[in-house]
Amino acid sequence: MIDLSSKKMLSPKLNAVLDAALERERDQQPKREYLGGSEIGHECERQLQFSFFNVERDVDKYLVGRKLRIFERGHWAEAAMIRWMRLSGVEILTEDKDGEQFGFSEAGGLFKGHCDGIIVGGPSVFGPFPRLWENKGLKAAKWRSFEKHGLRHFSGTYWGQVQVYQDRFDLRDNPALFSAVNMDTMEIHWEAVPFNPMACEALSVKAARILRSCLAGELLPRISQDPTFYQCKFCDWCEHCHQMEIK
Ligand code: SF4
Repeated sequence: MIDLSSKKMLSPKLNAVLDAALERERDQQPKREYLGGSEIGHECERQLQFSFFNVERDVDKYLVGRKLRIFERGHWAEAAMIRWMRLSGVEILTEDKDGEQFGFSEAGGLFKGHCDGIIVGGPSVFGPFPRLWENKGLKAAKWRSFEKHGLRHFSGTYWGQVQVYQDRFDLRDNPALFSAVNMDTMEIHWEAVPFNPMACEALSVKAARILRSCLAGELLPRISQDPTFYQCKFCDWCEHCHQMEIK
């Protein structure tokens, strides 16, 4: 007789082994000790402080098993896009002379960022050159929202990242190229993102303000006092934040 119960148990048992390995790997990685240029566009300054201090995430938001695999999927999308572009004749630089991702570091290493690539040549439709390139792998609903609303309205965080990186990598003259891969259908949507000096300046001031507050031990205000507010619902520190006494 076929043992259905053991068949049902096969996936959980095997996945548990993979997940444990991924979680061990996660625990061995050094913790990030800086404010990321990739996140500075996020609206909630308190959330950026939690991220800066590596505050323990709420239990249900902790990056475990399946979420770690989803996170890794973003790297696959980036590697595939680089391959597809190179195959199409696009000249894209992804590493500096030391073989490292292009990066910037400010405020004694407390504000940093790394870009996906710089497109320097290729078919004219990919120009003007040189230009910053950033890519995300998105689930279908998010990808459709990006396609419909455009980057700035879809994600202030991604848009802010592109602004700061255009400035820090000295690529202000030509609009950045932002691409997103729909991880369900593998469709690709592209957007040219012009540099906005005023927004970039505001983001730089914001970074300095957050770092000053962090170093002074001051907690910045919540974006909302309501834990059901949409930004809070998806925040990794929602429970932690809204249980704190200080407003
Ligand atoms: S729960 Fe809301 S207010 Fe608190 S850090 Fe997160 S986004 Fe900000």
